[in-house]
Amino acid sequence: TAAQQAHQRGWHLYLVGGAVRDLLLAPGEETLTLQDIDLVVDGFHRAADVGAGVELANQLQEIYPQVRLSVHGEFQTAALIWHKDAQLGSLMIDIATARTEFYPYPAANPQVEASSIRQDLYRRDFTINALAVRLTSPREGELLDFFGGVEDLRSQQIRVLHANSFIEDPTRIYRAVRFAVRLGFKIDPHTEDYIRYAICSGVYDRLRLENHPAPALTTRLRAELTYILEAAYWKPALQLLSNLGALRCLHSNLVLDANLWWQIRFVSRWLKCLDSENHFSHWLIRLEVLIAALKPDEREQIAANLQLPKDSIERLRDLEKIENSVQQNLKKCDKISEIFLLLRQYKVPSLIIVAARSDRLERHRIWQYLTKWSKIQTFLDGNDLKAMGYKPGPQFKQILDQLLIATLDGEIMNREESVEFVTNITEKT
Ligand code: ATP
Repeated sequence: TAAQQAHQRGWHLYLVGGAVRDLLLAPGEETLTLQDIDLVVDGFHRAADVGAGVELANQLQEIYPQVRLSVHGEFQTAALIWHKDAQLGSLMIDIATARTEFYPYPAANPQVEASSIRQDLYRRDFTINALAVRLTSPREGELLDFFGGVEDLRSQQIRVLHANSFIEDPTRIYRAVRFAVRLGFKIDPHTEDYIRYAICSGVYDRLRLENHPAPALTTRLRAELTYILEAAYWKPALQLLSNLGALRCLHSNLVLDANLWWQIRFVSRWLKCLDSENHFSHWLIRLEVLIAALKPDEREQIAANLQLPKDSIERLRDLEKIENSVQQNLKKCDKISEIFLLLRQYKVPSLIIVAARSDRLERHRIWQYLTKWSKIQTFLDGNDLKAMGYKPGPQFKQILDQLLIATLDGEIMNREESVEFVTNITEKT
């Protein structure tokens, strides 16, 4: 329908970007059960009006009222969201008008104007993402490959379209790494040179989080970082980013040395064991460990610049305090109950980060606390105390706490001993 509607208006319609790449990589697989499809409208004889993509999307929504439409004015693109069903999920179809992007200055947000499909593809990141399939007649189904994308798919290379690509858009470094690792491709040697050159050129100072980059840029950077740290392939991706020197784009002091690399893997292992149901965002905690490697007085600001969630910002703000308290006091604890009372003040993600940054004894104690001691329960609860004739109030909590301490320290082994213990302590007071 989209192609028919475009054709009636004298436009061409193209399938572009990741969907074409994935179709070529896995022909025969149902790749178009994809969640995300990018379409581009182009004029037949001359460039289409900037609003053509939006007009087509509006028309499609009239024909299919069940589809939700949202228009992004600034870039003149429209997204149609079609919720198929609970099992198949949603399909998002982005429709844009063929465009050229100007970068008013390096690492800025692009400015957009209407253009032809070739120029639209030229502004894209890598040759393998700059392929298009024409959906309208004549020559419907034709593959447009102006920049050697098919050959790069065959030879498994990530290649930019021009030498300035990374100067224009720093987030492309992160994208290059993401695609290389995800697809098992190599970054072409010239492209790698362009990355290194761009990083050395100082153009990334604008992006560095300590320099308060523009929010739009950090949003894109954060999206790429999220993709990488969430993915199953986060380890090789992070190493490749580090080998390319790309972590310095985030902060000039950020270096993935052996210690930091160990800490991140440590935190991931613990999270896997302790939080198999993913109550916490594991990728976010990995990112926090990276940020925690910076100076304490910088962490909160960096997290805020990256627009991390509130609890994450707070964790980074409080990390130094928690770390000092745990590291100074934990070794002095003689009893399990002392460890329990110290550690129960803090939330699990903070304790895991602190464990990663502590020495063996502390790590061992935090592990015992998280896996064993924090789960120990008293043999009596509030109802039992009521049944024994105690009235709910402040004394209640004190009794239960004392019971817990004695249970943790192995002084009470069963219900009878617990009843005896309560009777003894309340008689004394
Ligand atoms: P994925 O399967 O990860 O979604 P994708 O290629 O669809 O891969 P998107 O981030 O959805 O990735 O981007 C869609 C298309 O937009 C890309 O294929 C690429 O052509 C273009 N694109 C996205 N980000 C950039 C960028 N920073 N610079 C240039 N082109 C980009």
